[in-house]
Amino acid sequence: MGDPEAAPLPRLTVALTFDHDSLSDGIRRGDSLVKLSHAEFGHRVGVPRILELLAREGIPASWFVPGATLDLYPEDAEAILAAGHELASHGWYHEDFAELSPDEQRGILDRSVAAVRRITGAAPRGFRAPYWALGSETLGLVEDAGYDYDSSLQADDYRVYRVRRGDRHSMTEGSTFGPEGRLLEVPGYWAMDDWPYFEPGDAGRDGLSAPSRVLEIWTAELRYAYAHAPGGLVTITMHPECIGRGHRMAMLEQLIAEAKSLEGVAFDRLDRYLDRWSAIA
Ligand SMILES: [Zn+2]
Repeated sequence: MGDPEAAPLPRLTVALTFDHDSLSDGIRRGDSLVKLSHAEFGHRVGVPRILELLAREGIPASWFVPGATLDLYPEDAEAILAAGHELASHGWYHEDFAELSPDEQRGILDRSVAAVRRITGAAPRGFRAPYWALGSETLGLVEDAGYDYDSSLQADDYRVYRVRRGDRHSMTEGSTFGPEGRLLEVPGYWAMDDWPYFEPGDAGRDGLSAPSRVLEIWTAELRYAYAHAPGGLVTITMHPECIGRGHRMAMLEQLIAEAKSLEGVAFDRLDRYLDRWSAIA
């Protein structure tokens, strides 16, 4: 039950979240030198630029970092933590969990928890599935590994909710919905992710939206949530190798200014928002 002494939620909370994939999926896939260099941009340029912006604006953020990135670039994790941000999990080599056996998934989750614990002294609170791809059993395994929240599903937008375990769907037997477990869900959506707008695909020809279009969509989400979802959460998913390009960083600066122009909007880490939400839920 809720804590009667708990502070109310801000009028609207904005969570800037960053998936620091770097070379993790490229190593697993055996990507070309060019694609690996595209991923390396996130480490070389994106992360320092983002950290500088967040520090300048006084914004705490949540970072979902694959284990391979933690190994490749330990200095990035140190900088993220030194700046007061949250370190959460995102696979090891950015695996597609829907393609893995339960044992393989469990192994990656346990290894990820241990890696974050070695760095921060505490287990990670959050997990986001690479590609937002989940097997039917994945979130049960995530809960069993000790995570408090997932950020991979899309059943809501501005409200967090509890994940059900054991839903079953069959065209012949019908559908049954399992009970809610302990795991909380911070929903995401493709329109609130930088990647589908900006990344050009293998041929380098698709995507590459003007940032003004993304600013229009993200600002409309902020304003709609501000008007219609008091106490709610707007979660934006970004990638350092994508948002870190200059013209997109300029857009992110404008978005932050838009949010700050709305009275009562707070930026926060997901773990801290969820602690507040749980205290009054
Ligand atoms: Zn990712």
